Amino acid sequence: MNDALKLSGITKGYNLGTPTEVRVLNGVDFTLAAGEVVAMVAPSGAGKSTLLHIAGLLDTPDVGSVEIDGVAVGGSDRARTKLRRQDVGFVYQFHHLLQEFTALENVVLPQLANGISQKDAAAHAMDLMETVGLTNRVGHRPAELSGGEQQRVAFCRALANKPRVLLADEPTGNLDPGTSDTVFAALMALVRGSGMSALIATHNLELAGRMDRMVRLDAGVLSAA
Ligand code: ADP
Repeated sequence: MNDALKLSGITKGYNLGTPTEVRVLNGVDFTLAAGEVVAMVAPSGAGKSTLLHIAGLLDTPDVGSVEIDGVAVGGSDRARTKLRRQDVGFVYQFHHLLQEFTALENVVLPQLANGISQKDAAAHAMDLMETVGLTNRVGHRPAELSGGEQQRVAFCRALANKPRVLLADEPTGNLDPGTSDTVFAALMALVRGSGMSALIATHNLELAGRMDRMVRLDAGVLSAA
């Protein structure tokens, strides 16, 4: 089986108009195997979000390559957008749900955009919501849900189109410790239930210890932790 994600020699800097560029990533190599769940730990400002955005095809490296499911990503913006829609799920620290839609609709909509019928999309959304223990909240709008519940809906939305890779940027970073535990367990149930691969950035070493392995981003490179 192909690796879910392969990053090779990823370098990225920001030029702020000063003579010296700020180099954030300096030759990152990383392979995420099929079905593997990896924790990424890093001090704040180390470049976690930059790396996740490059892996998730939301940004491009200055140098280096990204492969998803054995396919080298390159070419047109259109091709990248298509790959991103089909193969990558993204979860942020803040849920970014659509406020005017119910929890269920938030999980159904990305599937409709991907050509799935309303009936199938709703049935799949109900299955996902059941996995994260939200069957009795499907008709609620985000404002009527707790922070942990909102984040669980965001996980379902990210996984709705069965992406090859889930990328999560501090998915429990905004929650209190007790809630963070429940929400993390829900995320793992979804990921393990689907057999998907995930790269999850977290400051929480206890949660990181529950994943298959841990990598550390420091001084622009990624190494085993
Ligand atoms: P982390 O997610 O680990 O906190 P980021 O990837 O957000 O780190 O940022 C890494 C570094 O890159 C920081 O020093 C940040 O200031 C800088 N940076 C991030 N995005 C930009 C940008 N668009 N322009 C300039 N500098 C940026």
